[in-house]
Amino acid sequence: MSKSRRRIACVGEAMIELSLGAEGGAARVGYAGDTLNTAIYLRRGLPGDHAVDFVSVVGCDPLSDRMLGFIATEGVGTAHIRQHESRVPGLYAITTDAAGERSFTYWRDNSAARTLFSGDGGADFAALQTFDLVYYSAITLAILSDTARTAFFGWIDAYRAGGGEIAFDSNYRPRLWKDRATAREAVETAWRKCDLAFPSVDDEIALFGDFDGAAVLRRIEGYGCDFGALKRGGEGPLPIGVHPVELPLFRRADKVVDTTAAGDSFVGGFLAAYAQGRTIGEALLSGHNCAARVIAHPGAIVPLAVWNTDNR
Ligand code: ADP
Repeated sequence: MSKSRRRIACVGEAMIELSLGAEGGAARVGYAGDTLNTAIYLRRGLPGDHAVDFVSVVGCDPLSDRMLGFIATEGVGTAHIRQHESRVPGLYAITTDAAGERSFTYWRDNSAARTLFSGDGGADFAALQTFDLVYYSAITLAILSDTARTAFFGWIDAYRAGGGEIAFDSNYRPRLWKDRATAREAVETAWRKCDLAFPSVDDEIALFGDFDGAAVLRRIEGYGCDFGALKRGGEGPLPIGVHPVELPLFRRADKVVDTTAAGDSFVGGFLAAYAQGRTIGEALLSGHNCAARVIAHPGAIVPLAVWNTDNR
């Protein structure tokens, strides 16, 4: 009998996003974070008999409540999002200069999500235990303490030994790490402990200094990864591992408005096909098509109403 992949957890940090307009004007509030973006697009791509949960920590403040409401509106489960009694979510502001160039300012060093997996008696992974597949990223790893990160890797070993599947995306953000060597060590360990790998060429080159995409692929496969996708922007993805299937053609998107969340939505589309038992070729195309729809719109999350009427 084939494996069930009906219950999927996406684990990480979601932040409050403030989009600032002209000086003195009102700011628009949104909610985003790499693994939350993936959870939302994954949910949109799956039938109702699958469950997608976001696993994280927020606060007990009014904005945390709104964030939880937003996540629930998307049909993503919130039962495993803990509410910290004193901390609040991280926040970032997007400002746009006269030339249209965007800048990001962050307040996230002490966010509620930094307490992910911390229980009264040490690291606690009970929230993840009931899922068939757990997806996380290097941003998830970066917000954990060294001790929690080591404990998480230990939990992953036991979870996989018990039949659970792990999907990982390296989303390398240098400012979240103490130094590059620490990031490198953690990300390499994560590649060695995953069932589905979603590296992107740019992140891997920035972190490991590979010569090109082919070198990234060789290194990732050398860790033992044999399933997933190497994301290469408009070039289209390459499969990880050797698969006896014909690959589809990946067309460049004809409309690119904003590439924010291209990688996150790619993984959402890929996992939606994978969880329904499709081939790797179909999963790659599903990811590619999902990302192409997202980059045709501004922002990480295309509003649900727009998504549902945008019939590509
Ligand atoms: P990341 O955001 O993780 O760096 P990429 O920029 O590689 O990821 O984009 C992820 C995926 O989105 C790509 O593998 C591709 O499928 C799709 N994508 C990105 N840019 C384009 C584009 N211009 N045309 C078509 N697809 C694109």
